[in-house]
Parts: sequence; structure tokens; C-alpha cells
Amino acid sequence: VFTAATVAAAPEDPLFGLMKAYREDPSDKKVDLGIGAYRDNNAKPWILPVVKKADDAIHKDPSLNHEYLSIGGLPDFTSAAQKLIVGATSPAIQEKRICSLQTISGTGAVHLGGLFLSKFHPQKPTIYLSNPTWANHNQIFTNVGLSLANYPYFSKETKGLDFNGMLQALRAAPNGSIILLHACAHNPTGVDPSQDQWREIAAVMRERQHFPFFDTAYQGFASGDLVRDSWAIRYFVEQGFELCVAQSFAKNFGLYGERTGAFHFVSAPGADASTANSHIASQLAILQRSEISNPPAYGARIASRVLNDPTLFAEWEDDLRTMSGRIQEMRRGLRKRLEAKGTPGSWDHITSQIGMFSFTGLSEAQVKILRDKWHVYMTKNGRISMAGLNTNNLDYFAEAVDSVVR
Ligand code: PMP
Repeated sequence: VFTAATVAAAPEDPLFGLMKAYREDPSDKKVDLGIGAYRDNNAKPWILPVVKKADDAIHKDPSLNHEYLSIGGLPDFTSAAQKLIVGATSPAIQEKRICSLQTISGTGAVHLGGLFLSKFHPQKPTIYLSNPTWANHNQIFTNVGLSLANYPYFSKETKGLDFNGMLQALRAAPNGSIILLHACAHNPTGVDPSQDQWREIAAVMRERQHFPFFDTAYQGFASGDLVRDSWAIRYFVEQGFELCVAQSFAKNFGLYGERTGAFHFVSAPGADASTANSHIASQLAILQRSEISNPPAYGARIASRVLNDPTLFAEWEDDLRTMSGRIQEMRRGLRKRLEAKGTPGSWDHITSQIGMFSFTGLSEAQVKILRDKWHVYMTKNGRISMAGLNTNNLDYFAEAVDSVVR
């Protein structure tokens, strides 16, 4: 029988535990490189100017109320989100073989996709995750009853992509496996395949009839260019894959707490593609209804205003360049400082990795010294959030890294 006493305590979420420890540290030198949220040069959250503008306009709009959205969310938002990811002129849109539902940010989109595949895929195949990956992938896909496996991704030697290891694993995976792919700015490593490597990945996946599940949480954040950051997804769609996409607007709009995202299912081209896709849309709506009934309105209203207005859209692109540009500057600044000090090891991966995160190569023991002695907080796998660095703490952080590496 169930009694409350039978439930053992769960371990603390490592990332949120890290944030708590940082908040409670009284040192004025402390540096937060843990959480994946953009910070400005004063280590403060940044409200994108374009988001502020859209927000002000929403507050002045007398026609708005607090009614429910529909089950699939705000139509102007989902259609714009769809265009942003596959391109406005994509045949998938023209041929009506992509359906999109608004979700509880990227996490909700990953969950909805996992739940759908778990329920409707007749073979319920194993889902392959990169090693390493965003830790929550493991929990989400386990919760929906999919079995998990890994493919190699990060090479400790080069601190770049273990491309051969990845391809071998994709070849060895049973035909028709689900492969989770980070569309850009891989979390936690900051390492992405090149376009040529993506082409080879697609070729192997086609050969093995694998199903691509794209997770895109950093579009516009990696290169600063929205189209370039969606290249891999657009290429797979062009190649005629059936695939799905979990899309988050948390980072690229700075709408973290507003839980703004979308799930897209693209059916392969063919005479019945549009009908098949509408069936999928109807099943997704039933799943969504039972889980959240309908998604939250506020963040989608903001994103929708920006995505559907060419002037605001251009301002958003400027804001994205501001964020990605500052991060790239911090990458160059950190590498320069470590190289100037002659810190043992090579540091070129700091600038070759992209997006919000860098896999420094620091060991768990070194990470612990950084935290205990230097008040620098990062995840124990040696990942740092580049956005936590700024011109006020770069020297200090470089000095700290130099001291623990020696
Ligand atoms: N996928 C990846 C790879 C991520 O890094 C994140 C954010 N940490 C998400 C999905 C989802 O985040 P959110 O639910 O805040 O959109």
C-alpha cells in the first residue's frame, strides 16, 4: 500500500542546487557560470529592448483579455514559429505537411514529442541521445516510457566533435531508431557538426531509416544569424525526412519564465502527407489537452508581435547580435588571458565552441576548488555559461582557472 512514508527523498536538481549555493555565498567576488541564462556585462538579466517594446504595446491593447488560448496555442505565434524554423518558403508549409502546437517552452515541446512517439510509434524504438546532453533529456524521455541509449559526441582529446564515434554509433543503432539532435549550440559542449558533417549524418540516418528529433533552444544565439542556426533542420526537411522539432524561445527572446515554445511535426513529402499530418495534429491536440489543456498566453503574445512585424523582427535580430556578440567577445577574452598566462593545456576550444556554453575540460576536482576557494560556480562536468563572464570578472576567472590547472 501507498503511504507517504514509502517515498524516499529525491536528490536535488544539480543545476538548481548550484544556483542556490551561489545565492547563499556571501563573497563579493562570486561568479555565476552555472545557469544557462543570458546576463549583461553587469551580470544582470537583460530584457531585450524589442521585448520591452512588444510588452508595452500589449499593455496598451484594449482588446486583450485573460481568456484561454486554444489547445494548440496562439495561431499567429505557431505559424510564425514554424516559418522561423523551416523557412517561410519551405515546401513543408506549402504542402501543409507540418503541424505546430504551442508548448510549455522547449521542455514542454521535448516532452510532447517524446509522449507522442512513445504512444504512436508502433515499434516504440529506443531514443539515442548525444553523450553528453542536456541532463533533462534523460528524465523527460524516461518519464514517457522510451528506452534510452547514447551516441558518442564529445572528444575529450580534441574538445571537439567525436564525429567518427557518432557516425559509427548511428550506423550500429537498430534500423528506425529515434535520434535526438541539437540543432545548434549544443548543450553542454558548445560543439556543433559542420554543414558537411550534417550532410553525412543525414546520409547515415537515411540509410538506417532513423527518425530525427531536433531540439532547438538557441536559434540565433549561436552565430547571431537565425537562418544559419536553423540550417541543419532545413537541410533534413529538404532531404525529405519525416521529423519533429522542439523549439524554445526562452533564450533567444529572454522569455525564460514565460514558458514560450512550440512543437512541430513534419511529415515526409507524398500524396497523402497533408492528410497524415492532420491526423498527427489531431492526436497531438488530445495529448496536449490531457496534460496542460492549453498553453500560457503571455510569452506567445510577445513573441508573436515581434515575429509577425518586419520592423520589430529586424530589431530582434539586432538584439540577438548583441547577445551572441558579447558572448563571442568573452570567449576571445578568456582564451587570450589564459594563453597570455601560459596556463597549461590548449585553449583554442574556448573560441571554436559556440553558443552559450563551453566545455572547458576542467575536471570535477578542479571545479570543486574553483567553487570552494574562488567562489566560482559551474556544473561539475566543467561546463561554463559564457554569459556569466563580463569585463569585470574575466581577469579574476582567468586567474582562478590558471591557479587550479597548474
Ligand atoms: N533543450 C536544451 C538543449 C536546452 O538547453 C534547454 C534549456 N536549458 C531546453 C531544451 C529547454 O529550455 P526551456 O524549457 O526553458 O525552453
